[in-house]
Amino acid sequence: MTQKIGKSGLTKILVLVLALALAGVASIDFYTHRHTKETVVAAEGLTEMRMLSEWVPSLKGTFGDTPVFFYDSGVEGATVLYVGGTHPYEPAASLSAYVLLENVKVEKGRMIIIPQANRSGTTTGMLGNAYPTWYEVETDWGTAKFKNGDRWANPLDSWPDPFTYVHYPSNVQLTYQDIRNVNRCYPGREDGMLIERVCYGIMEIIRSENVDMAIDAHEAAVMYPVVETYVAHDRALDMAMMASMSLSADRFYMKCEASPKNLRGLSHREWGDFSDTLAVLMETPQPFTDWIVGPMTPTLQTEGKDEFLNTAAEHGLTYVAYNDEFGSPIRYRVGRHLSGALEVINWMMTMDPTKQIEVSWPTYEELMDKDCGYFLHNPETADPALVFEI
Ligand SMILES: [Zn+2]
Repeated sequence: MTQKIGKSGLTKILVLVLALALAGVASIDFYTHRHTKETVVAAEGLTEMRMLSEWVPSLKGTFGDTPVFFYDSGVEGATVLYVGGTHPYEPAASLSAYVLLENVKVEKGRMIIIPQANRSGTTTGMLGNAYPTWYEVETDWGTAKFKNGDRWANPLDSWPDPFTYVHYPSNVQLTYQDIRNVNRCYPGREDGMLIERVCYGIMEIIRSENVDMAIDAHEAAVMYPVVETYVAHDRALDMAMMASMSLSADRFYMKCEASPKNLRGLSHREWGDFSDTLAVLMETPQPFTDWIVGPMTPTLQTEGKDEFLNTAAEHGLTYVAYNDEFGSPIRYRVGRHLSGALEVINWMMTMDPTKQIEVSWPTYEELMDKDCGYFLHNPETADPALVFEI
């Protein structure tokens, strides 16, 4: 006996075919985002590129493993660690680390750079948010594309989340997804979940390489109080305070806050408590992560111009000065990070004569003048030994 497919049955089949077609198209995007890498050209002074799995072997072969770049001048001096990509949806942090590692010169002491602390978080977008997957930076050799990642590690790499995340070793209870947040899992543990192991590895670098100052680069919403700010551990607070005053005097406005003692898992607290390093976190204004903005486009990420945020600023609802004529371009945010790091390093040297390092890289003024692409090198014509896929 045969049965005819009725009109409603046909509609169901068509809807199913359409849903599968849309899922097929989307899956190509998801796959591409997960497996495409970003290309960087390290500066000539590179002495070593090591993987984080050297410090935590269980990370080998996982999306938690990430490159660590060493620039050793060979002259005895202080060691500074610069960390980008803690939150991959704050791209000026990792882009500033790229500009740094492509242009750094070290005459005395040593620089260590981790451009993508949460590599797993670069392999997915903000889940539930229709963010563009990419943003673009113009260079004189073409357009360089970089990823907008997530705040947390990809659930494909770290799953399931606990019902409540109990931070180790404080036992403070945090929201469940923060078990995948690099800035909630320090000091980490060697046999923990993926990001706890990543954090343990970064801690181990700080301890075993005797890092004198460790800097964690971030971006924050313009309507979030902790923006345009250093957040410093107790021992680094005077240095960050002086740096904020000197930057604010004649270059760009920068606040300074003390790392709260009861807020656990964060770099500016645990790096300083679980090692001898001077821990400092930096935030730039990133309109892309403000909830009230209009279309979430790649241009909003790079130019930061938004009329709704402008209206909010006119009503005194933003924590920093903002207007949509200037916006908050990525060259401004990268420049702030690069000079923010140089300034706090200078104050470390002024306040502690035993910690001396001679480093240079592009400054805020140079970024504002020439933009980010000027400082990114063409991987096609570069020495292949200096080209890395991250
Ligand atoms: Zn952040």
